Amino acid sequence: MSKVRVRFAPSPTGPLHIGGIRTALYNYLFARKTGGTFILRIEDTDQTRYVEGAEQYILNALKWCGLELDESVEKGGEHGPYRQSDRKDMYAQYAEQLVKNGHAYYAYDTPEEIDQMRENLKTPEDPNPKYNFASRGNMKNTLSLSAEEIKALDDANTPHIIRLKVEPNEEITFQDIVRGDVTFSSNELDDKVLLKTDGMPTYHMANIVDDHFMEISHVIRGEEWLSSTPTHVLLYRYLGWEDTMPQFCHLPLILKPDGKGKLSKRYGAKMGIPVFPTEWKDDTKNELFIGFREEGFLPEAVINFLAFLGWNPGTEQEIFTPDGLIQAFDLERVNKAGARFDIQKARWFNQQYIMQTDPAQLAALVRPHVEGRGHQPTDEYLAKVCELMKERFETLKDFWANSRYFFEEVTEYDNEKIIRKRWKPENRDKMHDLKSSINRLRNFTPDNIESQVKKFIEEQELSFGEVLPFIRLAVSGTTKGASIFEIMSILGEEEVAKRLERGFNDFDKIKENA
Ligand code: GLU
Repeated sequence: MSKVRVRFAPSPTGPLHIGGIRTALYNYLFARKTGGTFILRIEDTDQTRYVEGAEQYILNALKWCGLELDESVEKGGEHGPYRQSDRKDMYAQYAEQLVKNGHAYYAYDTPEEIDQMRENLKTPEDPNPKYNFASRGNMKNTLSLSAEEIKALDDANTPHIIRLKVEPNEEITFQDIVRGDVTFSSNELDDKVLLKTDGMPTYHMANIVDDHFMEISHVIRGEEWLSSTPTHVLLYRYLGWEDTMPQFCHLPLILKPDGKGKLSKRYGAKMGIPVFPTEWKDDTKNELFIGFREEGFLPEAVINFLAFLGWNPGTEQEIFTPDGLIQAFDLERVNKAGARFDIQKARWFNQQYIMQTDPAQLAALVRPHVEGRGHQPTDEYLAKVCELMKERFETLKDFWANSRYFFEEVTEYDNEKIIRKRWKPENRDKMHDLKSSINRLRNFTPDNIESQVKKFIEEQELSFGEVLPFIRLAVSGTTKGASIFEIMSILGEEEVAKRLERGFNDFDKIKENA
């Protein structure tokens, strides 16, 4: 195989959908696996769809995901520039070359005239007639008009575009790594616009010229581009570049969890789940789209999850480090069928990564979520909490909900029913003694606390059910959670004493009001 050079070629028309990151990821994995080059090209020829900030968003999102680029707008490289608007002078000559060779033509139709043609030709079977071999003869172009008519239009400076001349009744076949041989009839294609009235190229023209001059070996992109590929094949052929035409690989769609339709940003917004790598604020519409980063996902987990949306390693293994993914990845194992997006699965992957993360590192990751609530614990304290709690949260954001009692006093109890039913004010003095005896422990370790509590229960002839749930509630506000003795040890004797005192008072009051 000649040197692998692959590109991710987003248009900066808004935030990068998670499907775009999946495309970038597969390009990246393939490049790293084959010792190739991973390129970012910004396709911004459609100025009407340009969105301020989108390019920077794309760069930041790739960085957050750890998908390091070899050549890009920021990094430069030998095949630059890497933004199409900075290359705009090089495209027109190839469109002109196609005209000269008889594979393209000038067209002078106004948008209204094209609409009119569609209106006239439309039938129930073909509601959207094409500008193609069948209709072009009745339109205003250099194939249908006489030399005088053309001269008159040019003398009047009539704006014109260049269209590809697609011959009818041809079969266009290309090989796709995922789908095998794919054949389209040229009759299904329209005479695509290559150059616009302002001399700017369209996506098709710029994409082919750039892939050629950037020496792209494989075009790995979403399935929505499959139907453009026969046009691209014709362009390579007519430009005389067929020998170096890249190999194509179209990735399956990412579907909603029910498999019905593409995963859209609207769906994400409705369900409150991220479909973007990082948050995106749309100031014009005052909309905020949440991102995986802000929802408390680790980039490695997002990457691992995305790798499995359309690919599998052929084994049972699911957890892969980024390096492991590179080793295991293979374009041949990319699926044809659409991949269902399942946020629960994403959370599961995230939890696996959280459990694997060293407590000190995890502490640094959860810190913003704790500081955001106005608390500044020491690194040591936070690391201890993380060590104890790391199996109990799926996202960094959940950490706060499950661990807040390590940072804040308990003011509510999640199980008042048990207090009303089982708290015995007559045991109050004994519970007070328990508090003092725990407090007297020399080493406030989980083991010491546990044996002290158990000894106390036996000596006082109490039952576990009369004591333990109430210690738990007083200390953490909940009857569920990690080992209560571990929790107490982390909180420290003073804090525990304070909480038990306050808790027992609260329980008396709740019981009184019951
Ligand atoms: N600019 C196209 C996009 O936004 C690129 C498609 C391709 O990779 O050819 O996805």
